[in-house]
Amino acid sequence: MGYVIAIANHKGGVGKTTSAINLGTLLALTGRKTLILDLDLQGTATSGLGVRKEDQAGLAGMLLEDKPPVDVCRPVYCEDLFVLPLGKQAATIEDEIRKNPLLMEKLESVLDRMAAAWDFVILDCPPTFGLIPNAAIRQATYTCIPVQCEFFSVEGLTAMLKRIQELQTAGGRSPRVGILLTMYTQGDESSDQVRKAVEQNFRSLLLAPIVPRDPILSHAPLIGIPAVLQAPESRGARAYLELAWEVMKHERQETG
Ligand code: ADP
Ligand code: MG
Repeated sequence: MGYVIAIANHKGGVGKTTSAINLGTLLALTGRKTLILDLDLQGTATSGLGVRKEDQAGLAGMLLEDKPPVDVCRPVYCEDLFVLPLGKQAATIEDEIRKNPLLMEKLESVLDRMAAAWDFVILDCPPTFGLIPNAAIRQATYTCIPVQCEFFSVEGLTAMLKRIQELQTAGGRSPRVGILLTMYTQGDESSDQVRKAVEQNFRSLLLAPIVPRDPILSHAPLIGIPAVLQAPESRGARAYLELAWEVMKHERQETG
């Protein structure tokens, strides 16, 4: 079974998609088959990887039209990296699932099949707890929560952690959660306050790498090439390299 990493936070703009793209690319570069499952209606992970989301049947195509994975998962950059967006029918798919409970079962079995077929599946979650991201988090082996180093970022974090842990327990998994500090600016007061608050209150969950605020990371999606490929020496890329090592370490511990 592959290692499924949900990247989740109900706040928008905290670095979920940036983390999904760069972490996914690095894992694929190690020769492990990696799928980035873009669960956000906005489809920014898909477009950030240079794929036109408007043309894709996506996950909705698998659920509503029985499309096989090979027809909907798009290869990007290197042999081992793929992206799967929600697809053209993304806007209505949750309504369809609500109307037809059998579709929820189908979604769960599709997610299982994905986990079996890839070494790593990265779930780029939307900033909401909808039916699809909830089903995905239930199935995740590990949830990474990016927390932006800005005022108010820690508000609501305890409640969100509880929610994620409940979902993972409901999926029959022992909750495994890590907090990733993002957009950290050295010497900036709000950055340091968030870092201290997380260190004091969530020390055991805090991941070692801290992603700095780095314009390389924010400009990369404009070109559609992940920052870790464009500028591997940049501070932002190096932080994601450290994260990829951590994730591979966790994966080795889980799978023995
Ligand atoms: P989310 O998926 O949580 O909404 P994104 O990954 O889309 O967040 O990031 C929100 C914005 O911040 C984007 O414009 C992105 O390019 C930018 N960004 C993310 N991480 C960084 C970083 N470490 N340094 C600078 N800009 C960043
Ligand atoms: Mg996003």
